[in-house]
Amino acid sequence: MSTNPAADLPFYYGSIGRSEAEQHLRLTGMADGLFLLRQCIRSLGGYVLSVVWNQEFYHYSIEKQLNGTYCIVGGKAHCGPAELCEFYSKDPDGLVSTLRKPCLRSPDTPIRPGIFDDLRDNLLREYVKQNSNLEGEAMEQAIISQAPQLEKLIATTAHEQMPWYHGKIPRQEGERRLYCGAQPDGKFLLRDREQPGTFALSMMYGKTVYHYQILQDKSGRYAMPEGSKFDTVWQLVEYLRMKADGLVTVLGEACLNSKAAETETPNIPATRRPGANGYTPPPKVHNFSFHSLQVSSNRLPEGSECQGMDANPYHNPNEVRKFNIQRSLLVIDELELGSGNFGCVKKGVLSTNAGQIDVAIKVLKSDNERLVKEEMMREAEIMHQLNDPHIVHMLGLCNAENLMLVMEMASAGPLNKFLSSNKDSVTVENITLLMHQVSMGMKYLEEKNFVHRDLAARNVLLVNQQFAKISDFGLSKALGADDNYYKARTAGKWPLKWYAPECINFHKFSSKSDVWSFGVTMWEAFSYGGKPYKKMKGPEVTHFIKDGNRMACPAACPEQVYTLMKECWTYSHEDRPDFEKVEKSMRSHHQSMSKTSGGAAAAAESVKSSLTRAILS
Ligand code: AMP
Repeated sequence: MSTNPAADLPFYYGSIGRSEAEQHLRLTGMADGLFLLRQCIRSLGGYVLSVVWNQEFYHYSIEKQLNGTYCIVGGKAHCGPAELCEFYSKDPDGLVSTLRKPCLRSPDTPIRPGIFDDLRDNLLREYVKQNSNLEGEAMEQAIISQAPQLEKLIATTAHEQMPWYHGKIPRQEGERRLYCGAQPDGKFLLRDREQPGTFALSMMYGKTVYHYQILQDKSGRYAMPEGSKFDTVWQLVEYLRMKADGLVTVLGEACLNSKAAETETPNIPATRRPGANGYTPPPKVHNFSFHSLQVSSNRLPEGSECQGMDANPYHNPNEVRKFNIQRSLLVIDELELGSGNFGCVKKGVLSTNAGQIDVAIKVLKSDNERLVKEEMMREAEIMHQLNDPHIVHMLGLCNAENLMLVMEMASAGPLNKFLSSNKDSVTVENITLLMHQVSMGMKYLEEKNFVHRDLAARNVLLVNQQFAKISDFGLSKALGADDNYYKARTAGKWPLKWYAPECINFHKFSSKSDVWSFGVTMWEAFSYGGKPYKKMKGPEVTHFIKDGNRMACPAACPEQVYTLMKECWTYSHEDRPDFEKVEKSMRSHHQSMSKTSGGAAAAAESVKSSLTRAILS
């Protein structure tokens, strides 16, 4: 099952670096417009187009967009890399030259697979197997239809499968493992740091262990301080195997984790296996903490791809922000889907190279003042950083007669309205499926350090009866790397009935306060769109909660699901579960329900239909 649309192109070389690409172009004669395509190591699903002009090399990054199209930053979107290259063969559109002559791979140069290419299929299969109760043909179908959606999710955890990943071990244990057995320069391992989502790279050089920290930025990309950014940790590691990027040397041999060591060395007697027989004390241990890499671009080799965190090493045909949508590509219907603080949300159609897609357009009222416009821009900034199947995708912003936020369409509308008008046809298992999906989307937000602050059934939109997406990021905040809550300076027009006590009392918002709101959203869902706390006013609810009261179990809600709801309403946020736990619990509730109700076939059907639509997003 190849998901690489460039695999059949005769000028595609796979996962080769910049210098290797230049070598191929050199050997093929350096004619103007000579070009080849290679895999981009930084961004998932992206490519790099390398072109010759006037005896020089130009490298353009091609990004895979959220809607599945490909474009050179600032350029037009195309439905695949082949179409993109064909387009630039006719029109330079900002490149140094049209693509005139493909640099063809010789028969003895096979496409170099990327490390993830080999892993992807197995990981996808494993994921769908664990999460869907499907078997046989239905599972194969689900794998095919879910692949584009799940690839990113799977890629971000793929490092856990690598032989050099050692999980959460302390620094000293990392050193101990590196000092076991041979100690060649570059021997390395990766371990988790205390702070979730951050890692430490420990490597041997001159019989000394060096430690480097790997941090995640607000958009979820990984980098060493001042280093190049990558979508996933394993891509960063692969890159550091080719270029030192400020490390004392490039990464070399992996220090194997216990699982990999077991399979790699089956014939070595246990006493001779690395780590099995005590260890030789280290000759010299580095005694200061993380090396902060002060890499300045002039220390790097010319043409290097690692010119610091913010510098884009690629030539940029123009500076148009990548989420700008041209007005001419948008047809706006008169039909209003709903209205919010900013103005109204209208139905529309967006033309893309992949075809026309239905969209929802949030149109800012033209008489709105600057502050509201800025708020909408902030919402767009947040949405732009999110990419999860259960979060409404932003497709772009269009600044024309009004400022417009263009989103994928969730045509079945808000969850509360859908449930109250479809009481007879929606089963409890169906509601559990939808709320599990919401918990997956929220777990993703928690991992990315975003707080939603307005999770409620009205803000869960349905693509169809089987597929939910979280929307409305108007109040959302990205937390700083070291913060675990957001402190609001003043109380605003807040949805108090959905807010945890610490939000109301101390204006503190975190993923744990989103968990409280998730509990209220669950209550709404299992009450088929009922209004929480009946006729009580916000301040009355605050007292009701403080006195230890909680809403009663909705009639249709299974007891164990209500138990989870009450856990979400744990008064102290420290004792409240996080979304990792909530998601796990929702998953097991849904799995046990679908097993007993024979829901696998229905689930297969729903996965198929909902994902066909979701793929358009
Ligand atoms: P909001 O301002 O985000 O609360 O949106 C107001 C209303 O517009 C929602 O309650 C929905 O009915 C509708 N709406 C917003 N976004 C979408 C979307 N992506 N797809 C369909 N309807 C939407």
